[in-house]
Amino acid sequence: MSWSLLLSLVDGSNEAKEIVVIGGGVAGLAAARRLANEQLTKNIHVTLFEAKSDRYGGRVQTDRLRVKKTKGVAAELGALWLNSRLHTDPIAELLMDWELPSNTTGREKLYLPKQNQVVEDEELQNVYSELLKITKSAVQKVRNSKIDRALDAAILEEISSWDTQTISKNLLKSVFLAPSFPFLFGRSTKHFDPNVLVGWNTVIVDGMDLLVDRLLGGNFMELPIEMELGKDVRQIKMNDKTKKVIVRTTDLKQRSVDAVIVAVPFNVVKSGAVVFEPSLPKRMHKAMDRIESIAASSLILGFNTAFWPENVGVFKLMPEENLESFPIWINMNRVVGRPLLMARTFGKTALFVENEEESVVKNKALQSLRILFGEDTVAAHNITTFIRSQWSADPLSGGGISFPTPDCTEDDVKNLYQPICPYIYFAGEHTMPGLMGTVQGAYQSGIRAAEQLITGFCKEVLAAEQAQKKRNMTTLTNSTTDSLNKADKSTKNENITKKDEL
Ligand SMILES: Cc1cc2nc3c(=O)[nH]c(=O)nc-3n(C[C@H](O)[C@H](O)[C@H](O)COP(=O)(O)OP(=O)(O)OC[C@H]3O[C@@H](n4cnc5c(N)ncnc54)[C@H](O)[C@@H]3O)c2cc1C
Repeated sequence: MSWSLLLSLVDGSNEAKEIVVIGGGVAGLAAARRLANEQLTKNIHVTLFEAKSDRYGGRVQTDRLRVKKTKGVAAELGALWLNSRLHTDPIAELLMDWELPSNTTGREKLYLPKQNQVVEDEELQNVYSELLKITKSAVQKVRNSKIDRALDAAILEEISSWDTQTISKNLLKSVFLAPSFPFLFGRSTKHFDPNVLVGWNTVIVDGMDLLVDRLLGGNFMELPIEMELGKDVRQIKMNDKTKKVIVRTTDLKQRSVDAVIVAVPFNVVKSGAVVFEPSLPKRMHKAMDRIESIAASSLILGFNTAFWPENVGVFKLMPEENLESFPIWINMNRVVGRPLLMARTFGKTALFVENEEESVVKNKALQSLRILFGEDTVAAHNITTFIRSQWSADPLSGGGISFPTPDCTEDDVKNLYQPICPYIYFAGEHTMPGLMGTVQGAYQSGIRAAEQLITGFCKEVLAAEQAQKKRNMTTLTNSTTDSLNKADKSTKNENITKKDEL
């Protein structure tokens, strides 16, 4: 029995408010943690339902079973980087509180084979700073105009008209089109926060899974979250008569609760895998139609010895016509002291990595490594470890990293996290416009949903709706009285006229 339930029985106070959080990713865990910390004072009781029976964490997955004897960061199959430049970042605070060491992945080196050019150190930093200015300017222009457009087109146009003396426009374009930015393509410019363009350089050395573990377990002052694995939610039914929500799972069980926080990927909701009764309002479906996702994958390769430069953290390779070249390689030897390279890919390349035969993927990977480190050097080394993510085959993962398209309006964005009062609240990376597709966004969305519940957001919404209804009724009554009076008057007039006529 939970502490809050026990307390409510002991002191005879009202029954605890029962809440189920659905989805054990960062968003769901953050929401459940925030609520669990209020259990004693607010008399609420929270349970987390996670569909998978063997793990929680969602798109945070540190594969300690297959990447053995290493620090967790070298085994990340999902999220890897945190952005160190965000103005407010509760995750950075948590890492400090929990004394979890973080590190940067180190200096970058960008290879532009077609131009026979390598960009690094100060030159690359200057290009990034200039690109940030260009992006800010492009975003501002689009925000000032009425019509949204794709961010990549807006930035490329801005580069073309940019007054730059020190850095060539070709270089700016190449770096922008380079592998670090594929998730910017086709996304809304208006909803893009330029400050998240750069700063993706921080990793949790012992593994991102420690973040989800700590959220679940809490610190020594906090109660652990009550989580049930293997709870694949199929139906959420609201009942206005009983004022309850029924949550049905595929194990043919159901739970009747006061409210739920839905923290599953938007594609899971959009696909109809979770049935809402009554169905979700049209405004939400419209908003979900205006969000897309790009596939993302992780590939970990191990060798007997590290044959790549020790002092470079990230090798970036500008893809040419060959879409399946591997554009980002992280030197894990620098972070964990083991001869491991991690490739990060997006879009078509990510699908290629996850779905092609192992030998085909290995060959392509080696082809990219040969461009980076030379034919002979690579030929002298064999791959000893080959581990890849499988997100594209996981219907519970929602298909990668989400982003708002230029069709997505301000209202759409709000509609994604507007609760269906008083029963259903929403969280998940896709509900955080500025930080969509990120761990930091997922965390903040979970806290926001929990706080909507704690602070009685719905009470205010329902009270406002009630007041509006009253106003409408009064207006209706007044206008009906007016119409009746008018009708009465005109009947009287008619009668007078008719009398006159007679
Ligand atoms: C390869 C890859 C690399 C990435 N790299 C980065 C990065 O470097 N930095 C970064 O910030 N972000 C990165 N991301 C994105 C980041 O991982 C996500 O934005 C974030 O983890 C999403 O958290 P979430 O809680 O919103 O959703 P999820 O983590 O997807 O959690 C949703 C949970 O809901 C569960 N679920 C689904 N359906 C049901 C159901 N019907 N009933 C019950 N439970 C259900 C799922 O099993 C899952 O556990 C990456 C993602 C991928 C795939």
